Amino acid sequence: MIEAKDVVIIGAGFAGLSAGVALADKGFRVAVLERKPMPGGRAYSFADSDTGDFVDNGQHVLMGCYRATLDFVERVGSRDKLVFHLDLEIEMLDGPGKSATVRTARLPGPLHMAAALMRYKHLNFRERISAMRAGMKLLAMHRHDYASLSRLTVADLVDKLSQSQRTRETFWYPIAIATLNDEPTVSSAALFAEVLKRAFFGRRADSAFVYPKVGLSELYCKGASEIIEQTGGFVEPRAIVEALELGEGGRIASVRLRDGRRLGASNFIAAVPPHHLLRFLPENAVGDPFFARLADLSTSPIVCVHAWFDRPVTDSAFVGFIGTPTQWLFNKRRIFDLHGESHPGYLSFVISGARKIVDNSNDELLEMVLGDLHRMVPASREAKLIKALVLKEKQATMAPDLRSHELRPRTDTPIANLFLAGDWIQTGLPATIESAVISGNNAAAAVAARVGG
Ligand SMILES: Cc1cc2nc3c(=O)[nH]c(=O)nc-3n(C[C@H](O)[C@H](O)[C@H](O)COP(=O)(O)OP(=O)(O)OC[C@H]3O[C@@H](n4cnc5c(N)ncnc54)[C@H](O)[C@@H]3O)c2cc1C
Repeated sequence: MIEAKDVVIIGAGFAGLSAGVALADKGFRVAVLERKPMPGGRAYSFADSDTGDFVDNGQHVLMGCYRATLDFVERVGSRDKLVFHLDLEIEMLDGPGKSATVRTARLPGPLHMAAALMRYKHLNFRERISAMRAGMKLLAMHRHDYASLSRLTVADLVDKLSQSQRTRETFWYPIAIATLNDEPTVSSAALFAEVLKRAFFGRRADSAFVYPKVGLSELYCKGASEIIEQTGGFVEPRAIVEALELGEGGRIASVRLRDGRRLGASNFIAAVPPHHLLRFLPENAVGDPFFARLADLSTSPIVCVHAWFDRPVTDSAFVGFIGTPTQWLFNKRRIFDLHGESHPGYLSFVISGARKIVDNSNDELLEMVLGDLHRMVPASREAKLIKALVLKEKQATMAPDLRSHELRPRTDTPIANLFLAGDWIQTGLPATIESAVISGNNAAAAVAARVGG
C-alpha cells in the first residue's frame, strides 16, 4: 500500500542522501536506489588492499562556507571526522624552492583575506594592490551587474580587470580551476564571483579549508543510511533504475528496475547526473523542452594520481603547483592523521579541468605527475615509489560554462510528482558538494510542500 509519505529517490550521492535524510527527518519513508555496489556517487572511497589505506576517488576539499554540507555532516554524526583549518595557509610552489604562502590574518573577514593577499610573495606590491582592487570590482559587479558578469568567462574578466599575466597564473587561475573545475577560458565569471563572495569575502570562518580525515564514504554514507532506515526506509545498492513509469494524470506511478522489479511511491526524486536522467525518463517527456535542453549540459574531467613512497616527501598537508600540469599535491599521511610505519609517503595529486590530458594513458599520466613532483620538490627524487593508482573521472562535474546558466534546471519539473536534485541543478553555485546538498534539501522541501498541500 503506497502512502502519501512514500518517496523513491534515484541516486545515493550527496544529493540523494541529503534529500533522503531531510525527508526521513520529516517522517517520510524513503527508498534510495543506487546503481553502483555502494552509495557515494562521485565522492566515494575504497580500501586499497596492498596498503590498507582508504583511497578517495579524488581528494575533496570543503570550505567553511559550505553551510548546508556541514549541517548534513553534523546530522549524520560525522562532524568530528572533519579537520578545520580556520587560518588558511596555502603553500604555492612556482618552481624548486620558489615557495610563497597565502596566509590569512587573525582579523575579521574580509580583512583576513586582504592581509593574506598583501603577504603573497609571488606577486609584487603593485600586483597585490591591483589584485585587491580587482576583487572589490568583481564584488561590485556581482552585486550591481550580474547580467554582464554572466556573459564573461574568467579569462575575459581578468582581462577586463587588467590583471598581469603573473597575477593570473599565480593567483586567479589556480583558485578558479580548483573551485570551478574547468579552464578559465571556459568557466563563467559569475560562478567564480559567487565562489569568491561566499568563500573569501565573508566571515573569517567561511574561508576555512575543511577536509575529511577518513575515507569519503565513511564520512556520510553509513550515517545517512541509518537515519533513512529509522523511518522504515532503505538505501539499496545495485538497484539500477531503467524507467520511470507514468500512471494517472501524467504523474509517475513507479520505477522499473533492471532486475524487473517495480517500486511505487507518491513522489520521486531523480538525484542523478543529467545524462543518466535522460536514459530513464518516460518516452513522451524526453521531447519536452524542459528535459530536452539538459542534453546540452557538458562535463569537465578530473584526474587523480595516488602514489605511495617509502618515505615522507613533504611536511605540508597540501601544496599548489604553478605552471605544471599537476595542480595540487595532498599529503594523505598528514590529512588522515596516520602514523603507519610502512609507506609513510602517501600522496594524492589532483588535476582539475583535465580536458587536455584525460585521454593520455595511465603510464603517461603517472610519468607526468612524478616529473612535476621531482621538479617542484627535488628531494622527492630520493623517495622510492612503492605503488601508484591513476583514477580518471571523465565526467567529474558539470562544465561551468556560460551556457550552463540558462541550461541548469530548478527542482520542479513539468511532471507534478517528479523532482530533480544533483550538483548540476540551478543553485547559483558551481557543481560542488555544497550545490549537491542544497539541491537535495530543496527537493526534499518541494516534496514535503506537495504532500502538505
Ligand atoms: C575527483 C573529484 C574531485 C572533486 N572534488 C571536489 C571538491 O574538492 N569539493 C567539492 O565540493 N566537490 C568536489 N567534487 C564534486 C563532488 O564530488 C560532486 O559535486 C558531488 O559528489 C555530486 O553529488 P551528486 O549527488 O549530485 O551526484 P553523484 O555523486 O553523481 O550521485 C548520483 C548517483 O546516482 C547514481 N545513479 C545514476 N544512474 C542511476 C540509475 N539509473 N539507477 C540508480 N542509481 C543511479 C550514480 O551511480 C550516483 O551514485 C569532485 C568530484 C570529483 C569526481
